[in-house]
Amino acid sequence: MAVLKSINPFDPSRIINYPQLSDMALAVQLGRAHTTFTSYRDTSFEERAKLMKGVATVLRDRSREFAELITREMGKPVNESEAEVKKCAWVCEYYADNAEHFLADKIVETEADESRVIFEPLGPVLAVMPWNFPFWQVFRFAAPALMAGNTVLLKHASNVQGCGGAIEEIFKEAGFEEGAFQNLAIGSDRVAGVIASEYVKAVTLTGSEEAGMSVAAEAGKHLKKCVLELGGNNAFVVLNDANRELALNMAIPARMQNGGQSCIAAKRFILESWIAEDFIPLLVERVKQLVMGDPMDEKTQVGPLVSVKQAREVEDQVKRSVEMGARLHIGGERNGAFFQPAVLTGVTPGMPLFDEEVFGPVFAVMEATSPEHALELSNTSRFGLGMQLFTASERMAELFIRGANEGAVFVNAMVKSDPRLPFGGIKKSGYGRELSDEGIKEFVNIKTIWIG
Ligand code: NAP
Repeated sequence: MAVLKSINPFDPSRIINYPQLSDMALAVQLGRAHTTFTSYRDTSFEERAKLMKGVATVLRDRSREFAELITREMGKPVNESEAEVKKCAWVCEYYADNAEHFLADKIVETEADESRVIFEPLGPVLAVMPWNFPFWQVFRFAAPALMAGNTVLLKHASNVQGCGGAIEEIFKEAGFEEGAFQNLAIGSDRVAGVIASEYVKAVTLTGSEEAGMSVAAEAGKHLKKCVLELGGNNAFVVLNDANRELALNMAIPARMQNGGQSCIAAKRFILESWIAEDFIPLLVERVKQLVMGDPMDEKTQVGPLVSVKQAREVEDQVKRSVEMGARLHIGGERNGAFFQPAVLTGVTPGMPLFDEEVFGPVFAVMEATSPEHALELSNTSRFGLGMQLFTASERMAELFIRGANEGAVFVNAMVKSDPRLPFGGIKKSGYGRELSDEGIKEFVNIKTIWIG
């Protein structure tokens, strides 16, 4: 079996190999997830909340150490990694405080003596996770799943196995039983076998469309519940009446967070014609000031992308779009895994920068002749994760809120995930929701009770 390789994108000579689990060891872990579930499911919310708050404490106490691990494995600036670890502590505390209330029995008035709905855990749930937020993606699923009484099996991306192992240790250190949260060191070719296991009751995947289709097909084959959080091609719409300064301030983090490697990053900048004239040179100016360098350096704002392969892919998407008529204003050069943040204008449907998900620091800018045209461009995407709109008009905000084919619309703010609000997409961005009370109900049996 091939080893799983963690390659430091800043210094690709630093490689750590993680051996895969043998078939026997994998079977033991799956069995343990099941056995643990049979007792863990009966623990009280109070007990689970205490453990989950312990996890938050470990995360906060050791946030710098985990941040450096994230940065070593996938290259994002260490300050961003530390913010990610702290956000994980927040989601643990949020579900520790709210799970009991979200899953409380719901009395429903009918002609029965008593009728109600109760929420019960399903069992071991497999989580197939990506490398881009190697802690956050895991915790935003695991905190509600465990608080609901399920056990968790993590199949993390091959290149962030160090993070996968560290997360398993965090749950153990906080006092969770060994089988409550387990990291499975396996490649993606062994996911189908895990889904097929009689012990695994459901699966969630955060990743690409291709992986989503494959996992959904396996889950379908075995009639198991499946949640998919896939790619995005979010629009960042600025109308003529917008607060230009606010939109500019948001444009940089909306696109540049995580080196642009975020599903909810703003990827297509749709500017109404009048405001575009001023906005574009100001945007170019701000992009020029971004500090690129060693991601372990506190001053660095742009680190390397996750791999040379990823940087090459972004370079190719830019190159092909320029050949089709897009105009490059700044950036676009690649050096190893580093990619100079780029601003391009004149992007149109049909170009890779418009049609494809670009996982890197590229501002694809286009003009719209009216708010309706901007909405039409925003909706011209096979993805539907989210979009952001900048306008001073309530009427325009309502036009986009109702008209956008998305899982989220943020007005005068950038799209972001928040434990208190549901997160997920439509179209090729997947189905199901994470976070909030909707998220915790994805992996429970919603049981109807009727007493005559
Ligand atoms: P990816 O290649 O799809 O990998 C994601 C996970 O799926 C990894 O653990 C990977 O394992 C596994 N995997 C890949 N192919 C598989 C298959 N055929 N069957 C089973 N498992 C498979 O995605 P990525 O490059 O890591 O992440 C980037 C993508 O994730 C982007 O499209 C991004 O938009 C999306 N994403 C979405 C959200 C959201 O919430 N909607 C959040 C973050 C990222 P290996 O590493 O072993 O191949």
